[in-house]
Amino acid sequence: MSATETIHIDGAWRAAMSGAQREVLDPADATILALVAESDAADADAAISAARRAFDSGPWPRTPVGERAALLRRVADLLQRDREAIALTESRDTGKTLAEGRVDVDDVTAAFRYFADLVMIESGGRVVDAGSPEVHSVVVYEPVGVCALITPWNYPLLQASWKVAPALAAGNTFVIKPSEITPLSTVHLMRLLAEAGLPAGVANLVTGAGDPVGARLSEHPDVDLVSFTGGLASGAKVAQAAAPTVKKVALELGGKNPNVVFADACATEEGFDTAVDQALNAAFIHSGQVCSAGARLIIEESVRDRFVSELARRAERIRLGRGTEDGVECGPLVSQQQWDKTQAYVASALAEGAALRCGGGQPEPAANRPATGYFFAPTVLDQCHREMRVVREETFGPILTVESFRTEDEAVALANDTEYGLAGAVWSSDAGRARRVAGLLRHGTVWINDYHPYLPQAEWGGFGKSGVGRELGPSGLAEYREAKHIYQNLSPQPVRWFAG
Ligand code: NAD
Repeated sequence: MSATETIHIDGAWRAAMSGAQREVLDPADATILALVAESDAADADAAISAARRAFDSGPWPRTPVGERAALLRRVADLLQRDREAIALTESRDTGKTLAEGRVDVDDVTAAFRYFADLVMIESGGRVVDAGSPEVHSVVVYEPVGVCALITPWNYPLLQASWKVAPALAAGNTFVIKPSEITPLSTVHLMRLLAEAGLPAGVANLVTGAGDPVGARLSEHPDVDLVSFTGGLASGAKVAQAAAPTVKKVALELGGKNPNVVFADACATEEGFDTAVDQALNAAFIHSGQVCSAGARLIIEESVRDRFVSELARRAERIRLGRGTEDGVECGPLVSQQQWDKTQAYVASALAEGAALRCGGGQPEPAANRPATGYFFAPTVLDQCHREMRVVREETFGPILTVESFRTEDEAVALANDTEYGLAGAVWSSDAGRARRVAGLLRHGTVWINDYHPYLPQAEWGGFGKSGVGRELGPSGLAEYREAKHIYQNLSPQPVRWFAG
């Protein structure tokens, strides 16, 4: 495989049919990290044809479930073998720290192991009581067919694994299109799938842009399901493109996630320190480029000043730098475009009356940070209100906005006042109140006295415009299966509805 043969179709590595290439940049200094093939619709068509053939006449959909699970476990082992190399690739490609890259590889491994286990447990059908001993009625689960998997740049391999592992476990074939900004770890995953023994044509990869490649995958009549993770605007386009062919569509979109802190959580010094520390982590890990980032701090008025002052003090001390460097806590933003977008949100917030407590743009120059990198200082904006763009829209950058409340009802109303509904948290030392508020939040994941953990065995996804469907958990496997009811009459008799 040469440097630009990053398209994988029917078991072979290829360059783009057009010969086009794309430069993948290192966000820490804007130099060229790699060259990849720049596919177009013709490459997408070839990949879909390969996946179609592999589904219609290849062995994989008919492979016993135990063998499919065993293959997933082999992939998990190979991921761990290559852990350091993949973590480094992910760190250099996305800008995230190496430590985060390692966590990603471990989480990807866990996803493969989880779906290997789940598909074994859920391999059987469901017997249904048809009300007669003369009828045997059973619901069985079958693969959907050819799946198009479209992934974003912030967690390239992790988001891929939440689709690839259940798709394969269920017996589907697929074409994956990673983000054109961060395709490298997905190329590595495809090599591991082949090494683990997956038959040619089951897993196909096209590296290229959302439009035309993602668009072609979404509209193509031979694709049975499209599973998309990315932004709201692109997700809506995918749904539109998929509609005429009535394929299944799963969308994991953005979030504008509230982190609700009650004063009682800060009543002790230890409680205060934990809530501040976790608010920092919620908002700024991976420079805020996280779908579930706790970008809205919603805090009880009585502790607001002290909490925000301490938060801003600590945010200013976050060590920015190249993700692969020791001691660095936050890498750069992924691209110039993402940097400009973040800056524009700060400008609009200030124009609308927000108070800048720290950050707001380029960090002070430092010896360890190339001036050409896309670094953005962690930013805390106080005096925000729900009408501001920065409070309503997903910035996907290191911006934390602060709003405050006086009553529990007000806290709930603020937290639910968003068109999104992906995740949120409640901090309180009153277990009853915390559970009550968690029950009222219209978000797909709610943490109580914590932020960010997720479990492969628990569903992940959003209410409202955060998406359609769920990944992970039993629902994450169900997305990739069709339920079929087989009704067997053991003693057929005439119905005599028609007299003649
Ligand atoms: P994006 O929408 O720009 O791109 C996502 C993917 O879609 C990329 O592969 C892109 O090439 C492709 N794409 C773009 N236009 C397309 C089109 N018209 N048709 C088909 N495919 C198209 O998103 P991004 O900037 O890469 O990622 C950031 C977004 O992803 C944020 O909104 C974030 O919240 C979201 N995200 C959500 C989750 C989740 O679990 N809900 C997880 C990670 C990221």
